[in-house]
Amino acid sequence: MEDVKIANSEYIRDLNLASIFRLIHKYGPVSRKELSDNTGYSPATISNHVKRLLDNGFVKETDKGSSTGGRKPVYLTVNPERGYLLAMDIGVNYVKIYLFDLNLQIKDQLEIAGRKKRAEELMPFLVKSLKEFCRKAGIDTDKIIGLGVALPGLVDNEKGYLHFAPNLKWHNLDIRSYFAEEFAFSILIENEAKAAVIGEKEVIYPGIDNIAFVSINEGVGCGLIIDGKLYLGASGNAGEFGHIIIDSDGPECHCGNSGCWETLASMNFIINKYFERTGEKLDSQEIIKKVSFQPDQELLSIVKECAHNIAVGLVNIVNSLSPELLVIGGDIIGLKKYIAEDIERIVKKNALNISYEKANIVYSKLGNKAALYGLARMVFDNSIGREIIKDYI
Ligand SMILES: [Zn+2]
Repeated sequence: MEDVKIANSEYIRDLNLASIFRLIHKYGPVSRKELSDNTGYSPATISNHVKRLLDNGFVKETDKGSSTGGRKPVYLTVNPERGYLLAMDIGVNYVKIYLFDLNLQIKDQLEIAGRKKRAEELMPFLVKSLKEFCRKAGIDTDKIIGLGVALPGLVDNEKGYLHFAPNLKWHNLDIRSYFAEEFAFSILIENEAKAAVIGEKEVIYPGIDNIAFVSINEGVGCGLIIDGKLYLGASGNAGEFGHIIIDSDGPECHCGNSGCWETLASMNFIINKYFERTGEKLDSQEIIKKVSFQPDQELLSIVKECAHNIAVGLVNIVNSLSPELLVIGGDIIGLKKYIAEDIERIVKKNALNISYEKANIVYSKLGNKAALYGLARMVFDNSIGREIIKDYI
């Protein structure tokens, strides 16, 4: 009984410590008095916990703050260099590795271009690249709080496992174990569109609680924030709108059905159609370049067809979820100029008025960094509490 009591009081103390750090992270620079006045924690509790946060270096004092006159109080702010977060976005033709500080600001980045590779070849290379990246950035891996990895596929984020990433042709891979064998920090695996919706919300739209993020790359992924929270569903993979069937006589999909939205409304749709009609095989970036600089009529008409198909799927999302904000992201935003008008017109014409009027349709402001920002945020939320109390266990 005695032990349980001690464990509980330690647990509560640690919980308080982590939540006071989160408040400083969110509202800093902030004074001890402001923390006490606005939280219900006593000045003594705030003072004790702040001392521990100062001692372990997570927080520092500054004279910058919202002083209202009189003697300037001391303000508290996060020490951004006390720890770092890593984010890795594995796409079909690239891998991006970003380093964030504790204020979730980008400190360094690495982009690795490359065509599709087998996971068995690529993963050990990425582990090596990560070590090299930290070394070049001058960051000891002891200072890394965690790594988030985004993949364009179905994941089990509790197990750190990838079930299937069709456009990478990767099946059943224990992604976490590749990194866990080499690194002691925590490792989180997430679907790319789900990470992207978190990034877009946290950085651009913190006040909006109902967001659908449609990530259109080689395939179509979707991340949903419902009532302020990432919606996962029972399987953890809710939001696979890429596989709603919009033409049952349409092209075959890797999921086994025909005419899924992503077969008709993705970069692959444009790539495959252009190849069928001209014999020229281009990748996503080459398509975007060609449309922008030397478009031919064939390509422009395929892009128009794709815009129409994108709009048909968006109508289904607007009608079924009634989001406040519908964000279009992924490589397709490179074609925004050529698709936006058609999409707007078709969605307006076909969606239920009551839902359409409330839905603001926009293009990702974070662009191809949305998932990386989202990963940094998720790693921070999952691991910072543990990291702060680590020295006391
Ligand atoms: Zn499908």
